Amino acid sequence: ANIVAHSAEGLDLLLLDAPHLFARPGNPYVDGNGHDHGDNHIRFGALSKAAGLIAQQGLGDWTPDILHAHDWQAGLAPVYMRLGEGTGAKAVTTIHNIAFQGCFPGHAVRDLWLPLEHFHRESFEYYGAVSFLKGGLMWSDKITTVSPTYAREITTPTYGLGFEGILASRRGDLAGILNGVDLDVWDPATDTALAKTYAAGDTAGRAANRRRLVDHFALSLPDDAPLFCIVTRLTAQKGVDLLLGALPRLLSHGAGLVALGSGDPRLEMGLSAAAHHHPQRVGVKIGYDEGLSHLMQGGADAIIIPSRFEPCGLTQLYGLRYGCLPLVARTGGLADTVIDANEAAITANVATGFQFSPVTVDALGDAIDRACEAFADKALWRAMMDNAMAQPVGWDRSADAYLALYEDARR
Ligand code: ADP
Repeated sequence: ANIVAHSAEGLDLLLLDAPHLFARPGNPYVDGNGHDHGDNHIRFGALSKAAGLIAQQGLGDWTPDILHAHDWQAGLAPVYMRLGEGTGAKAVTTIHNIAFQGCFPGHAVRDLWLPLEHFHRESFEYYGAVSFLKGGLMWSDKITTVSPTYAREITTPTYGLGFEGILASRRGDLAGILNGVDLDVWDPATDTALAKTYAAGDTAGRAANRRRLVDHFALSLPDDAPLFCIVTRLTAQKGVDLLLGALPRLLSHGAGLVALGSGDPRLEMGLSAAAHHHPQRVGVKIGYDEGLSHLMQGGADAIIIPSRFEPCGLTQLYGLRYGCLPLVARTGGLADTVIDANEAAITANVATGFQFSPVTVDALGDAIDRACEAFADKALWRAMMDNAMAQPVGWDRSADAYLALYEDARR
C-alpha cells in the first residue's frame, strides 16, 4: 500500500493506494452482487489507520489541526490517532446515517491490530462486537450530524438505534449542521438536463419540462392537474410504502405521479404495478438516472419525501431550488428545511412546501389533499415557488458552522 498525493478542484488530497483491498468489481461498499465485501473491516480499517497515523504524526513539515471522520467507514481513524504516540489533531466525527454502525465480530480486534485492553464499553466494543462508529464517537472531541433535528432525534431510543445513550451523554459536543447542495450542478438556469432552463421570478420554462416529463412517461395529464414526483432509494427508510398507500388519495384529485428509484424488489414491484394500473396518471422508472432526476425537479410540481427518518435529505433541497415544492415527513433535515404551508406561514408568505406528521398513510394523504388545494390557487402556488427558490441551500452557511466548530474543538 502507498500514500499518494494528488490534487483535484483546488483541493490537496492524500489517497491510500491499496489495490489488494480496493481494486474490485462493485462499489466501495459492496461487491458486484450487492453483498458487503467480506473483508470490509480490513478495507476501512486500513483507510482509518492511514488517516489516523497521518493525523497523529503529520507528513513532512505539515501537521493537521483537525481529523474529521465521516461515518463508520472512517470511525477508527480517531481511535488509531489517539492510541498512538504524539500529540495529534483534534477529532470530529460526522454521522450521516446512524443506521450504519460498522459492527464486526470480536475477532476484528486482532485483524485490525487494535489493543485488546481497549475492547470494552468505554471504547470501540459494542455488545461483544467491534463498532467502528462507536469507536469514532467515543474518541472524538466533537460529534456532528447533518441537521439540527436529527441531532436531537438520535439522542432518543426511537432514532438512536442503540446509540442514544452515548449520544445523550455527549450532548454538549453534539451539533447538527445541514448539508448543502452543489449550486453549479443544481442550477435551473444552466441545467442541460432540462428541456428549458428557467430562474427564480421567471419560471415559464417549467411548462416545457413538465411536458417532456409527461411525454417521457407517456402520461395523459391535463395542465391544471398537479404532477408529483419521487426520486429515491427504495428502502423502508424512505417510506415509499406509505406513498403507495396514499396513492388512491392522490389519484382522487386527478393528480399524476412520476417515480424514479431502485432498491427493495417489493417496492419496485409496488410502484410498477401502480403504473400498470394507472398508465395515464402514474409513470415509473426503476433504475438510477441522474438526468431524469434533474428533469423531474425541473418539471414536476412537487416532490414527495415520506421518510421515516431522514438525517438531512438532498432531494428536498433540490426541490426548493427548482421550485418543485417539497411535501415531506416532519423528521430530521426535512423538518429543518421546509416551511409548511399552514395558515400562519401562508399569511406571513413564508411557506415553501408541506410537512406531515405522524409519518402515516393518513397524514400523508392529508398533506396531499392540502397540496392539491394549494395548487389550484395559482397565486398561492406561485408565491410558494418564489419563497422556495429564494431559500439558501448552498454550502456557505454550513461551511461557516464547520469552521466555528473546528475552532471550538481546538480551544
Ligand atoms: P440518501 O443519501 O439517504 O439516499 P439523500 O436525499 O440524502 O438520500 O440523497 C439521495 C441522492 O441520490 C439525491 O441526490 C438523489 O437525487 C439521488 N438519487 C436517489 N435515487 C436516484 C435515482 N434512482 N436516480 C437518480 N438519482 C437518484
